[in-house]
Order: sequence, then C-alpha cells, then structure tokens
Amino acid sequence: MEKQRRINVTQSSMPSFEEYVEEIRSLWETRWLTNMGAKHKELEEKLCKYLQVPHISLMVNGHMALEMALQAFNLSGEVITTPFTFASTTHAIVRNGLVPVFCDIRDDDYTIDVSKIESLISERTSAIVPVHVYGNMCDVEAIDRIAEKYNIKVVYDAAHTFGVTYKGKGAASFGDASMLSFHATKVFHTIEGGAVCFKDEDLEKPLYYLKNFGIQGPEVIKDVGANAKMSEFQAAMGLCNLRHIAEEIEKRRHVAEAYQENLDGLKGIVVWKEQAEVEANYAYFPIRVVPENFGCTRDDVFDRLAEIGVNTRKYFYPLTNAFDCYMDIGSPADTPVAYRVSKEILCLPIYADLDLEAVRRICNCIRECQRIG
Ligand SMILES: *Cc1c(COP(=O)(O)O)cnc(C)c1O
Repeated sequence: MEKQRRINVTQSSMPSFEEYVEEIRSLWETRWLTNMGAKHKELEEKLCKYLQVPHISLMVNGHMALEMALQAFNLSGEVITTPFTFASTTHAIVRNGLVPVFCDIRDDDYTIDVSKIESLISERTSAIVPVHVYGNMCDVEAIDRIAEKYNIKVVYDAAHTFGVTYKGKGAASFGDASMLSFHATKVFHTIEGGAVCFKDEDLEKPLYYLKNFGIQGPEVIKDVGANAKMSEFQAAMGLCNLRHIAEEIEKRRHVAEAYQENLDGLKGIVVWKEQAEVEANYAYFPIRVVPENFGCTRDDVFDRLAEIGVNTRKYFYPLTNAFDCYMDIGSPADTPVAYRVSKEILCLPIYADLDLEAVRRICNCIRECQRIG
C-alpha cells in the first residue's frame, strides 16, 4: 500500500487562531489570568444553559473534578463502580480514601449492570460512581431508585457525554452530581479542563473552597482543599469551542454513520449504535471483534490497522481491576462481562475532520483481516 499520513484515533478541534487571540485579548488589560475571573464566570453561565444543568463548578481537569465532587459529599467506606473505564475513575475513588467495589457491566452498551448493584451494597456503601461510557447513558432511572432505597449518593463519571441528552434532558443533570472532562481529546475541550455539575445548591460553596485550597477567607481554612482551578486561558478556549459545538457533533455524526454503513452486517464485528431516546455526541466509535465469529482477534485487527498507518485504541483494556495498584481490591474474574469486552473492544479513529475516504480505508482493512484470518 502506498505511504499515507498516519491517522490518529482522535484529533483536537480548535477555533481559528484569530478567534482565540480575540478571546484572550482582554486578559492583557485586566491581568486577571486565573482564580475565577471573567472568562471563568462567562463559561460557567454558558455551560449551565447548554448542558441543561442547575449548577456547575469548573475545574482544572476532569480527574480533579471527580476527586472534588467525591470529597464534597463527605463520603466514607465503599463506593460501587465499574472497572470498564479510564484509570481516573477508580483513582479518584481511592485517592479519597474510599474502597471501590467493582460491579460488572452490560453486554450491549458497556454501562453498569443495574441488576448486579444491590447484591454489592453493604452497610459501608456510601455512593455509586457509574460511567456513561462512550457517551452511552447508564440506566439512570434504575440507579436513582436504588440510591433512594439505600440512601446513597450517585456521582456519574460523565466525562464522555458532553452534548448528550436523554429524553431531552442534559446527560449531566442526572444523579446528585456528574463529572465532565474538557480534555483536548474530548468532544468539547478547554485544552485541559473539567467540571462538576450538581443538583443541590448547597454544594456550590464547598466545591468553590475545595478547588482553591479550602480557603474560605483571608484567615479561614476549614477543609483540606486542593488546587483545581480552571485558568482564564482554558476558559477562553472553552468559550471559542462552545460556539462551534453543534458543527463539531454534526461532523462526527457523519463519520459514525460512514462506519455504520460500511461495517453493519460484517460477521463477528459488533458495531456501536445510538441508544433509544439518546441524542448522541459521537465521542468514540467502539467496535467489538468477536474472535469465534470473525476468525481473528481484536489484537490482530489492531496490529493490521497499525501496519497501514491507522492508530486505534484498546479502550478500555486492561480493566482497572486488573491494574497492578488494585491487585488487592479486585480481580477481572469478578466482572466476567467487562473482562470479555475489554479483550474484544477497539476504538476506531473518529474526529470532526476525519475524511470519509479514510473511513473506507479503515473498513476495507478490517474486512481484509477477516479474509486473511
Ligand atoms: C478523560 C476521562 C477522565 C479524566 O478526565 P481528564 O480531564 O483527562 O482529567 C475520567 N474518566 C473518563 C471515563 C475519561 O474518559
């Protein structure tokens, strides 16, 4: 095959250089570069509207947003979560002194299997941290019912759901709180960044203090805070990117549809599909390679695509309960569905400016894998 430019699994969208420069121009006059300035305030207001959430607190990144959210609820003991996620989810729980209890996932959309939650609840359980993985929504109604019955909190890792709605409601409006990530690789970004969206107004001050070292006044520090503030330059990038978000998602939709048309019906390949009543954001395009039906493995497909210059990601592999640092608190054997999915899943390249010719090339390569075996 002729030499072509490598295709990455993702590529950050950016506003024009001029648009960003115009957005940050005022910072040279105010000299207010961080610590909840004008850009920070404007972005919070605009995001509350766009995301349809009652309250939001911007953070330096998604990981710290999750750490701060868990800390703000004063949780203790055990937290039920899934291992089919990015390292951040489990780390945020453990770094808060909490013990993750791993629940298995569903075989179709890879979110937490709600039928398995109740058997994991003990008198030490204080919260559930489910993940809307790939922007697929968890069964939020069932999770709400369980949380109410046992009087425990629900904090979603909603890092993948920017712009997603379920039954017309913002994805980050469910549960007690949701964490969003605005990392450069996400659908909407502030270079690095994140947010906590929350229901109860009383959480506003604690989150504000926690992200600024726990400082409540010049001489008053009551909580063990951190530094998790979003800077004005990050917020400015967010203000620019928010202007283009509809087009960003629309372009991603075209890429996803091209994959679906090309791969649908291919034996042994399970193609990502939109969920019912969900307006998707096309953040990822995961496929599953089922070796018994396809004739070769996920790793074979990964290698073949790499040979023709296409970077894909084994996302999420390994499971977090297979990490060295979590050997003592869980094992992939406890979550057999997640374990199997982690060995079959492959995220294909998707970003707004990925051209459809590249999608065809990728799909042809996958078809060839099957023929060669
Ligand atoms: C990206 C991501 C995070 C962490 O967000 P950062 O902004 O990179 O800190 C957490 N959870 C999931 C599922 C993610 O994909």
